[in-house]
Order: sequence, then structure tokens, then C-alpha cells
Amino acid sequence: MSPTDAPGDDTAGATPVTPAPKTIPARASRRDSRRTAGGLPGLSGLSDGELDKWFAAEGQPAFRARQIRDAVWRQNASTADELMTLPAPLRARIDEAFRIDTIVEDEVKIADRGLTEKALHLLSDGALIESVLMHYPARGFGGPGRPMHRERHTLCISSQAGCAVGCPFCATGELGFGRDLETAEIVDQVRHAARRLGPSGRTITNIVFMGMGEPLLNLDRVLEAITILSDPRRFALGARHIVVSTSGVVPGIRRLTALGPQFTLAISLHAARDPLRDVLVPLNRRWPVAEVVAAARDHARVTGRRVSYEYVMISGVNDTDVDADALARLLRGDLAHVNLIPMNAVAHTPWEASSPERVAQFAARVRQGGIGVTIRANRGQDAGAACGQLAADAAGEAAAPIVARRRETIIRQSEAALRGDRSVENLPADLEVAVKAGGKR
Ligand code: SAH
Ligand code: SF4
Repeated sequence: MSPTDAPGDDTAGATPVTPAPKTIPARASRRDSRRTAGGLPGLSGLSDGELDKWFAAEGQPAFRARQIRDAVWRQNASTADELMTLPAPLRARIDEAFRIDTIVEDEVKIADRGLTEKALHLLSDGALIESVLMHYPARGFGGPGRPMHRERHTLCISSQAGCAVGCPFCATGELGFGRDLETAEIVDQVRHAARRLGPSGRTITNIVFMGMGEPLLNLDRVLEAITILSDPRRFALGARHIVVSTSGVVPGIRRLTALGPQFTLAISLHAARDPLRDVLVPLNRRWPVAEVVAAARDHARVTGRRVSYEYVMISGVNDTDVDADALARLLRGDLAHVNLIPMNAVAHTPWEASSPERVAQFAARVRQGGIGVTIRANRGQDAGAACGQLAADAAGEAAAPIVARRRETIIRQSEAALRGDRSVENLPADLEVAVKAGGKR
């Protein structure tokens, strides 16, 4: 993924938070594949039912569950010693039965003059994931015709370690699939960011599932995490301040529609034409553009909530007038909004971001077609910290011949796509497995 300034515009001037960076131990800097964290369950991921059951089995009164909830979410405890309201023997018991914090260590990089904080999180099995905290200062003066935008602190979180979808412009896609995150590992990214923000008195105002991984291929846990984060007795963030982004897992979108969620759905489209999208988002070979957009359209109609479409701008690949017209035609009349994001450079791709002029022209053309468009700024590039990049760096640089071969494949595939040929390649093996599992835990 790549952190952008979504949702809303960027302006300068937020007070930076500068936590002391820690170093991730060397043992973590290896690629992890196909594992679960295993071990003890994470305390922050437990539902009310699970907590009640555990305390009942321990012969403890029911109010202990509330005490634990408060310790985890109000005091943001990371060790058993911080469970102050509980008697010492019970604290020790909880320490034996659960992980109070599922994130072992953080390495934080500051970018954009303090407006962006990128955290690389080490999990207990050595897997590495990322979250990005983006600060947006307040804008405007309020009053009629002068809208006041409050200060925002948006956290972009990961749902998986790595990603099986394998979009060729994405550093996470290039890492490949590691494993699904547990519910506690998802929400603990939020607790860590909240802990860093805490001393300044600021709070997280928005959460976007635009970090590593495809949320709809780990949907059960993502939904559990959203339930916890929006629970008034836990993190208490209104679901309207949460965005879930997908590369187009149609059954997952339809499942969300049936649930009628309050959060916003974002679709990573990147191309309105199938041959090109087959290459840019390999999942398109399973669920093509028309199916993805039909599912998103139904979602908007049933929930009454506007769908966002993300479109990474790649010079000479998906940024032509023909692409702009195809995009406008595709979304005409829909409850939809397009976010254009200049591509962040990543090592293995032969591509570059579209120029600002091209992005502006593309935006104007799509707007002429009657579709709302916002041009987003990329965050975190100056620290080599576009999302997926920190973990990719930790995994070590790929050897030059591998990078060269990868670039050749991407060029070959995109040339065929630009001639209008659909891909004849199968889904990557990892992705085939993930699609079959359908986001169930
Ligand atoms: N897997 C999900 C959510 C995480 S990716 C998805 O794809 O929607 C979040 C966003 O970051 C996506 O829109 C993705 O296309 C974008 N992204 C990934 N790599 C990027 C890059 N190099 N430059 C700009 N945006 C990128
Ligand atoms: Fe990256 Fe594509 Fe996976 Fe999203 S779906 S994380 S863009 S590889």
C-alpha cells in the first residue's frame, strides 16, 4: 500500500510527534511465509463473550471483564503490571493465559516534516507489518462559506503480513503473502499509535484499512476489529470514520453489503479496462472490472454510502485520455468519488508516477464526465517510507538479476495489456488459496 492523504486534503503545520525510534532486531528482518502467530491469544482481540467465558471459568465475578476492557482500552495497558485494578494473582493468571500486547517492538520513522509517522511493527512470530499515522492540521475559519475542517489524525493499518494479490506497483505485493493478522494484532496497531499520541493530548480521528494486506481476504478478523474499534466501551471511534479498502474481492463486498456497515468502502480500481487491470491488480483475472463495479454500485445503493475509487497514476500506463474517458463512462451516474494518487516509486517496477500536469488533466477529464475527483498527495516518501517499503527494506534488497527479470515481466505484461490482450495467466498460487478461503478465519 501507499499512505496518501485520504480522506481529506493535506495542509502544512501540524506539531510533529517525535517518539524515540527503536531498532527492530536482526532476526525479524527475514521474510515470513504462511504462518500464524500461534501462542497465546491477544487480550485486546477478545469479544465480550470470550472475556465473560474466561472469567467465569476462572471463578471470577463478571465485573472483572469490564475492568480488563478498561485497562486495555482506557489505560492502554501493554503489560500485566499495568492491569492495576486487578488483584496480583489474577494479573499473573492473565499474563499466563494471554498476550497483553501482540506487538513486540516498534520502529518509527518520521516523514513530511513530522506530518507522517511510519511504524514498522514486529509481531511475536517475527512477522513485520506497518501502520502509518498522518496528521492534518485544522483548516479554515468557520462561518458561512468558510468551512472549518477540524484537525485530523488518520491511522492507516495492516490486515495481513504481506499480500497475496501481488499488484506490481505495490511494495507489499512484491513481498508476497505472509499470513493473516489476528484480530488483536490489527487493533494493537491502533493502541500503539494512540500511546504515541497520548502525551500530546491528541487522539486518532480516522482509521483506514489501507496498510499491508487485502482486508477482504481476512474479513472475519477485520470485522471483529471494526466491532472492537467502534465499541463505545473500547476504542469508541464512530464507524463513519473508518475506511476499508479492497482490490476487488467481490464476494467480500457483497457480504459487507448484506451487513449494511456504517464504514466507507474504497475500491482500488487503477484501471477501467480489463486487460490493463488484469496486470495492475491480478485479482481482476477472477473478478473483472464490471463485476467489481456492479458490487460496489449495489453497495452504495443498499447502504446509501458513497464508494471511493482509488486510482494510482502510472505514467504512460493508465493515465491517458482514453483511460480517463473509460473511467468516467464506467462510473457515470454512480454514488462514487475518485481519488487519484501519483504512484510512489518502488524498487522492482519499471514505472514512474504520472507528472502533476498529467494528473491534473486526467482529473479534469474525469470531472467533465460528471464524476467527483480528488488528487491526493503521497505521504512518507522522503523517509523511504511509502507503506510496504519499510517491511520490504527489512526483508533485504532483491538481487539485481531478480529485479531485472521482474521488470521485464511487468513490461511484457503491460505491453500486451496496452494492445488490448486479456491476461491468460492464472492467479498466483497464494491468491488462489486465499480466494478459496474467502476471508473466513
Ligand atoms: N489491499 C488493499 C488495501 C491496501 S493497499 C487495496 O489494495 O485496496 C491501499 C492503497 O495503496 C491501494 O489503493 C493501493 O493501490 C495503494 N498503493 C499501493 N502501492 C502504491 C504505490 N506504489 N503508490 C501509490 N499507491 C499505492
Ligand atoms: Fe498492495 Fe495490491 Fe495487496 Fe493492496 S491488494 S496491498 S495494492 S498488492
